Amino acid sequence: MKFPSKKYPIKNIRAISESNLEAKEPDTTFIDEKGKLVKYKYQCVRCAECCRGNFEIYIREEDIRTWMKLEEVDWALESIRLRPEGIATRDEFGEYNKIGKTLKRLMEKYGEKNYPEKLEELKQFIEGAHLYFGEDKKRPEVHSILEPMRMTPILFPKDLKTIQKGLEWGLEYVICTDAYGFCPFLELNDCSINEYKPLACKSFPYDKEGNLKVNDYRLRTCQGFKKIQ
Ligand code: SF4
Ligand code: SF4
Repeated sequence: MKFPSKKYPIKNIRAISESNLEAKEPDTTFIDEKGKLVKYKYQCVRCAECCRGNFEIYIREEDIRTWMKLEEVDWALESIRLRPEGIATRDEFGEYNKIGKTLKRLMEKYGEKNYPEKLEELKQFIEGAHLYFGEDKKRPEVHSILEPMRMTPILFPKDLKTIQKGLEWGLEYVICTDAYGFCPFLELNDCSINEYKPLACKSFPYDKEGNLKVNDYRLRTCQGFKKIQ
């Protein structure tokens, strides 16, 4: 597992992403909460704040298709985990009792009658196709689909096909950030997988629908936006 052991210098500004320099409208206009027009100018300044801001970088089908063409993919598999919040999130007491998006979608798709059977299938898939790391090996992650969800243990997909299949199930996969919220692929303010980095990185700070909300944390973090009006 490759995790950075120290904080990286912020001064050394180098190319994080040429693609971040393209693709964006130079001017972006928002209507803020008070209905006022706010105008921003965007230009990526290669600050790499998007790589150390503890953002969840979601893996998409397109990323997997790109990576499948590469000979070496261990770097990806070691750094991508199943996102447990898709299965369960915290309730008002802070316990992981609230059903997550993945299971909600499963319920909607298969209805009350077929849901238990599908849930069982999903559990078997998670158990069989992921490597398991955690404190309590007697209590595999899959049990927590039915019981309160825990943040640990961590489940790593065994191969890229697992991620593809998991995405079809509606599971979510993200890059594991370190304790500081740094992406493991960040090296001296540069992206070590720049050519193959996930689409979510290429489109940062926009979300996957290409939207950006005026109060979005990403907008506040990204140094490339300057308010001009
Ligand atoms: S994959 Fe590269 S661009 Fe994406 S967050 Fe990590 S270091 Fe930054
Ligand atoms: S935070 Fe914004 S400006 Fe900085 S590297 Fe990422 S996209 Fe570019």
